[in-house]
Formats: sequence, structure tokens, C-alpha cells
Amino acid sequence: MQSETQDPEAAVIVIDGHADTPQRFLDERFDLGDPLGGGNLNLETIRKGNLSAEFFSIWVEPTLYKGQYARRTLELIDAVKQQAARHSDRVEFVTSPEGILQAHRDHKFAALMGIEGGHSIESSLALLRQYYALGVRYMTLTWNNSNGWADSSTDIGDSSVPHTQDGLSDFGKDVVYEMNRLGMMVDVSHVSDRTLFRTLIISRAPVIASHSDARALCNSPRNLTDDMIRAIANSGGPNSKGGLVMVNFYSGFLSQSYLNAQRAMQPEVKQAVQALKDRARAEGREVTYAEISRLQRSYYDRIPRPPLSVLIDHIDHIAKVGGIDHVGLGSDFDGVFGQLPEGIDSPADLPKITAALTARGYTPEDCRKILGGNLLRVFREVEQVSKDLQPVETRPRLTEKQPFVKK
Ligand SMILES: [Zn+2]
Repeated sequence: MQSETQDPEAAVIVIDGHADTPQRFLDERFDLGDPLGGGNLNLETIRKGNLSAEFFSIWVEPTLYKGQYARRTLELIDAVKQQAARHSDRVEFVTSPEGILQAHRDHKFAALMGIEGGHSIESSLALLRQYYALGVRYMTLTWNNSNGWADSSTDIGDSSVPHTQDGLSDFGKDVVYEMNRLGMMVDVSHVSDRTLFRTLIISRAPVIASHSDARALCNSPRNLTDDMIRAIANSGGPNSKGGLVMVNFYSGFLSQSYLNAQRAMQPEVKQAVQALKDRARAEGREVTYAEISRLQRSYYDRIPRPPLSVLIDHIDHIAKVGGIDHVGLGSDFDGVFGQLPEGIDSPADLPKITAALTARGYTPEDCRKILGGNLLRVFREVEQVSKDLQPVETRPRLTEKQPFVKK
């Protein structure tokens, strides 16, 4: 008799580490039940591709929302929860590895959240703790903007931006310690090289790169050198089974020739974006991020899409350098202006990745690890480190205001 667990396909948990759909929920009133409408992710494509779980990115654009980071963060968190509530027959909001498995057993899609960009905590451990309490289970220490306590790979060369001495300020170290204690995964995608290594030295739990590729194959500062891949794979202390690099599907991080073409186009795109902003200002309003994205996309769509094989090359490279237990998927769906390899447009296309890996000799067990098994293992270990630290980590952080004591 064929039981469900004997069918290897049925047992595979597919987890994607990063999708920027929450902005669509909020700014475009996009509903997961809607047709894609230019986006990458909805309930229909989730079902078609058997996607079990998604980490929805809580990303606050740092220029547009200056002075309102916490408010915008809370609105994005609320938008994810609203979607889960609206589709409660098919979607379960979860916050743990066990939650992902339970949702899978219940034939539901698991929605999780990760914050992208430490500026969301507005330099407050109290906000960090409250985001955890609301269900946020990873935080990317920076986005493209350095935030005063951690540096970004994107602006590290800009001398007009203040940067830390050693990659993390004392407060930045406190943030990493507090995330370890809470059980929030530390995400090093986007951070500068120095911030990455500094974080790996001090984190007591394994870290993830939720959406990053290999610099050896595509020379973007957003990508990871082989040394970084090995360091992430070895992260988390002597007893740890190590961290995880989740491969980003963005053509600009996958393909050197795509990246070169995009860089050549940059001055023209910059000019067009400025013109859009000027026009809006003349009309007495601010442009939305969606408008800017649409404009950028109209340019980038002219560059030929790289073949799916480049995405598989990155998975292959990271698996060879870091080990098969240290690679996963972090699509960046809805965050890359639709600039994805040929044939990859939504979660419905995920089985193509499994097929391509199989064609390259990856076993069903290897695929199970890449598609979600590795993330479940790291997530569980981060939870365990948190449990171990709770009793010994009750002191306030070095940089935290001491509670007022009544005389
Ligand atoms: Zn990102």
C-alpha cells in the first residue's frame, strides 16, 4: 500500500526565503486571491508550484518613509496578517518550523515574516522585541542603506554616508545578541563584507543569507564571495550544524552579462526616475515606490532574460563551496521588477528548478534539503539557541537605557 509519506514528492516541504509582496498588499490593494497582474506571487501559482511556505518581506523604503519607519513596518506586518485572515481556508500565519509542518499537514500555505533592513527598529531593542512578538522571525541587518549600527554593501563605498568602525557598532552587537536570545534568525543578505564577518564572529546561532548569490559567478557587491559562503555554512558556534545561503532569482545578481547591460543603462534610468519625481512634485505629491518600479522595469525589460541554467549554476556553486546542507531558495519575487531568468515568473515555475537539479545529478534527498529541509534545520537550531540563552540572558544590553529606579 502506498502511504503519503512514502511518496517523496508529497513529503517535500518547499520554502521560499524572501518575497516582497507585502508592499503590493498595502500600496496596490493586491489580494493573494487576485490574478498576478504584473506581480510574481498569488494563491494560484503557490498551489501550482506546491510552495509550502513563504517568508514575506517587511521592507520599509528608507527615503520615502523617513521618520515613519516603525509605522510603515507595523502596517506591512498587519497587511500580511490581513491576507492570512482573509484566506484562512488556505493560508496559515505561522512563526515556527513546527508551524510550517503543521500547515503542510493541514494542506495550507504557511505565511511567515522577515524584516528587511534594520532601520525598521529605529535603533530600539524594544521595537526589535515587539516585532518578534508580532511574529517576525528573521531580520536582514541592513537593506541598501547603512543604518548607523550595521553597514550595507550598497553604500559602503559612499563616503558621504556614516559607517561603523568594525562592521557593527556596540549597539549593532547588542542587536545580534538580542536576536539570538529571542530566536529571530540573523540575516546577512545586503550587509557589507565587514559587517557580515563581524556578525558571524559574534552570533551564537547559525545565520542565513535570505536572498543572495555567488560573487564568483556574478560580481555584484550584493553577492557572497566563496569565503563568505564557507563562513555562513560554518556559522553558529562549535556545536552548530551551520547556516544557509538562499539563492536569489534576480537576473542582476545571477548573470554577469545581464548586470553589465543594466549598469550601462543606469544613467538613463536615473534621469528618467528623477524626471518622474520632478513631475510628481510639480503636481504636489510624492511618487510611490510602485511607480518608480514600473518605470525602471520598462527599461530593464529591454535586456534579454538569462537562461534558467544560470540560477542552477549558483545553487550548484554554493552547494559545492558551502555544502549541500547550506543552500536554499530566496526568490526575491515581487522585489526585482520582474527581472527573472527565462521561464521563472512565479512559484508555479519552482518544479522546473527541481527538474533542472535532478538533471544535473542531484538526488531527491539533495533536492529536499535545498527546497526547504535546510531552512527547517537552521530555524530549529535558532529556536534551540534561544531556549538555551533565555535563563542566562536576562541582563539589559550594554547600550540599552537602564530602567528608571524610584529612590
Ligand atoms: Zn533585498
